Amino acid sequence: MFQKILIANRGEIACRVIATARRLGIATVAVYSDADRNARHVRLADEAVWIGPPPARESYLDIERILEAARRTGAQAIHPGYGFLSENEAFAQACLDAGIVFIGPPVEAIRKMGSKAEAKRLMEAAGVPLTPGYHGEEQGPAYLFEQAMRIGFPVLIKASAGGGGKGMRRVDRPEDFAEALESCRREARSSFGDDRVLIEKYILRPRHIEMQVFGDAHGQVIHLYERDCSVQRRHQKVLEEAPAPGMTPERRAAMGEAAVAAAKAVGYVGAGTIEFIVEPSGAFYFMEMNTRLQVEHPVTEMITGLDLVEWQLRVAAGEPLPLAQDQIPLEGHAIEARIYAEDPVKGFLPSVGRLVHLQPPPESVWVRVDTGVEQGDEITPHYDPMIAKLIVWGENRAQALTRMRQALAQYRIVGVANNVEFLGKLVDSPAFRQADLDTGLIERESAFLFGGAEEPPPAAWFAVSCAERLAEARRMQESARRAPDPTSPWHAVDGWRVNAPALRRWQWRAGETTRRVQARCLGEKLQLQLFDEKGESVASATAWGAMLGEDSLRLELDGRRTTVTAVTAGSRRHVFLDGRAWVFDLCGQEGTEGAGTGVDAAGLTAPMPGRVIAVKVEPGAKVARGQTLVVLEAMKMEHAIVAPADGIVKAVRFAVGEQVPDGAELVDFEPVKEEA
Ligand code: ADP
Ligand code: ADP
Ligand code: MG
Repeated sequence: MFQKILIANRGEIACRVIATARRLGIATVAVYSDADRNARHVRLADEAVWIGPPPARESYLDIERILEAARRTGAQAIHPGYGFLSENEAFAQACLDAGIVFIGPPVEAIRKMGSKAEAKRLMEAAGVPLTPGYHGEEQGPAYLFEQAMRIGFPVLIKASAGGGGKGMRRVDRPEDFAEALESCRREARSSFGDDRVLIEKYILRPRHIEMQVFGDAHGQVIHLYERDCSVQRRHQKVLEEAPAPGMTPERRAAMGEAAVAAAKAVGYVGAGTIEFIVEPSGAFYFMEMNTRLQVEHPVTEMITGLDLVEWQLRVAAGEPLPLAQDQIPLEGHAIEARIYAEDPVKGFLPSVGRLVHLQPPPESVWVRVDTGVEQGDEITPHYDPMIAKLIVWGENRAQALTRMRQALAQYRIVGVANNVEFLGKLVDSPAFRQADLDTGLIERESAFLFGGAEEPPPAAWFAVSCAERLAEARRMQESARRAPDPTSPWHAVDGWRVNAPALRRWQWRAGETTRRVQARCLGEKLQLQLFDEKGESVASATAWGAMLGEDSLRLELDGRRTTVTAVTAGSRRHVFLDGRAWVFDLCGQEGTEGAGTGVDAAGLTAPMPGRVIAVKVEPGAKVARGQTLVVLEAMKMEHAIVAPADGIVKAVRFAVGEQVPDGAELVDFEPVKEEA
């Protein structure tokens, strides 16, 4: 086995490879561009080497610089991850020439499978079923049109060198063919530097089912079952699962056999994936082979309990495959969701920015989060906008679905547009729940998935207001700490029990909706009221709350307890409540802690039930901020009620010796306006 490997990649896959290497006692070398100097993969690796400026062409795709980094650090092998140089035969060859092991298939296998057209010709010879189509050398437009007519519309024109869903055009009518061909060629030329195309029959309502294969240098090739990756947007995978719903042992055996035959036909070694397109009838056709580790490999790991990166390392080191075909476990069901910095309602447009707040769900034996970023990191425009992969396992599909739904509900991201809510709806969509899968699912369910923006429920308006109130309370406590009387009850860090005005109002806007929330302090509780634009009360609730951490609070609304996260960004509040995310803008407020901001009834209230044991001021007295006004005795302790600001005592509501209930107004107090 290797002592040290270099990972020629970044992001979550680099972190993923480092994790296995570390477990196996293999030292790791990361490479990074200027944009990734402090990236998670760099922080995790034992060593890291700078390889250039942010553009991939000048760093992660620069073969010479990567080989130089390997030589400098004495890495014996290079893991290419996926994307970047992973399917680049020149890179695999260069590694070979440099005496460094390429953790991937032989150069020849990459070359043969690199062109979709050549791969199809080879597969045809190997007896692997193919999508009806044309994949010959002749590329004249008239000839291609003839082929399309022979195949029958609709057809799909594909860039032979294509990948990542790029360079594909569906053509429904003969009269649109010439133009689609021209535009497909243009995209192929600019994206892949090769404008050759192939034509396939466009399969209607197909599923994408792929087989994970593995070969070793001793001539064995096996498969590790299938993954269903039918849920796609723009021909790119969004949700993946294993096993494929509805798969029968017979069909699995047939697809497995075809996949193994395909891999053997190119002398395959290492991890690879044979992608099939599957007709509603169950007929399946070879689409392409990905000669690398696949983004969605974790679902296979979850149902087999195997570590595919470990297998890659063992095979690359010359070891035989650890298990035989009939020894591969298959247990339960796994689903992966790709968490992207992109805006689903804006056509999945990528989003860049700093991850101001990032809290993935807690990991467990059945929830796995593969990520390359942490809170505070940045999603840059230079690379793939994937934030993480969320993978869950269940004893069956229904349980996996429930766990996925729950984990998505716990995912909190602020700072970039993201698809977490969209994924939640996708997982909840009737079609996905019922495993009514095909590659058009997202389009078909668009009414459900992209339905009009919802208005936040009353609980969300209350939650943002309570969060605001608690954050304010905390600020006041911090300043109270600097106040003269350290025994003041306002030093206690809980609830609303701080020296703040009894009545607060906020005006919030969420999307097109504006609402006002009023909060009246009743001791430990807040009496909340929600008003619509016309000033009519539309909901009310009693709340109790306490801060749990920097951005999160425990909230009890009418006796129902929840945890709320509210992240502040300027006047914007991102509220995560009951598995939903809401965005509010603070438009106005009344009754803030500062003096003279329009307080309606600023009163100082009893923080707990107790007895008045001293009254230190007369009505009409001018007092200074922090001055003791009344002393309460509660729970065998004395609590001083102090002036929250410089001001005037207008009335004292209780006399010495009287019992006061929780929340009772003790002093009618008016802060003086500060001179500007
Ligand atoms: P898979 O077939 O494994 O689902 P795709 O075929 O969609 O993956 O593409 C491979 C992956 O490689 C993409 O998901 C993407 O994250 C990554 N990738 C492709 N091109 C780039 C690139 N230029 N930079 C970074 N990552 C890339
Ligand atoms: P890429 O290299 O970009 O991954 P693929 O050939 O694997 O390209 O195709 C990507 C996706 O496009 C498939 O998963 C499927 O959704 C769709 N697709 C590919 N071929 C066909 C076809 N013949 N008919 C219908 N859909 C297809
Ligand atoms: Mg593909």
